Amino acid sequence: MKRLEGKTAVITGAARGIGLEIAAAFAAEGASVTIADLSLQDSEAAAADIAARTGAGTLGLALDVSKEADCEKAVADTVAAFGKVDILVNNAGITKDGLVLRMKETDFDSVISVNLKGAFLMSKAVSKFMLKARSGRIVNISSIVGLTGQAGQANYSASKAGLIGLTKSLAREFAPRQVLVNAVAPGFIRTRMTEDLKDEAKAKISELIPLGRIGEPGDVAKAALFLAGGDSVYITGQVLSVNGGLYM
Ligand code: NAP
Repeated sequence: MKRLEGKTAVITGAARGIGLEIAAAFAAEGASVTIADLSLQDSEAAAADIAARTGAGTLGLALDVSKEADCEKAVADTVAAFGKVDILVNNAGITKDGLVLRMKETDFDSVISVNLKGAFLMSKAVSKFMLKARSGRIVNISSIVGLTGQAGQANYSASKAGLIGLTKSLAREFAPRQVLVNAVAPGFIRTRMTEDLKDEAKAKISELIPLGRIGEPGDVAKAALFLAGGDSVYITGQVLSVNGGLYM
């Protein structure tokens, strides 16, 4: 039996990178998946590719997680297509790095708006279905820098630390209805978000990582799959680090 047989999942920012890998892993384990990302074209292409590879039901949608109406519609469209929503992965995220002294107010606001408010809006949108069903999973993709802080990433680190507070509050609020809410805190993962790093910087980072390598999107997808599936029924309000031991 596949681990997510009969389940329906919505994954935000899933047209590429970590989100795409999570969507593919969930589909391979039997879930129907909604791939919701900024570009409709990219979402539909990813949905078609995953459907062809896994045979799973897929839906590609345009979504800006910082807009409440988009979030409500993405969840409503998912329920219309698959009949329910069992799993939400809040993965959409952006960076607008810079030292605080030079960081524009708009760069702070937009990162908080997508990374933190977006997760709140999507969680709110799925909550009415999950609370009624008395079952559900929410997995928030935070970051190692939400735990450690990072020079040049005050906005991003604050959004990712905020996600951990959101995770714990939702976990407490939803626990009586068996809706479990956890976070994954990835370290350095090989995606577009980290591709601008020079080879020299990547080599230096790898030296600092006890497991000796930068992570792959699949490493994060496996953790999300665990938190979304039947092996984590007594786990809520937790932060699972996937960082090769970089921060313990
Ligand atoms: P990525 O390759 O840049 O993918 C992020 C996706 O989110 C993109 O498809 C992007 O769409 C989408 N997106 C951006 N703004 C959005 C919005 N307002 N509404 C909906 N979708 C939106 O990044 P990634 O590395 O896979 O990161 C995925 C998550 O993991 C993020 O939350 C990130 O903070 C977190 N994370 C990453 C790392 C890492 O090392 N890569 C480490 C720790 C945590 P467009 O392509 O159209 O812009």
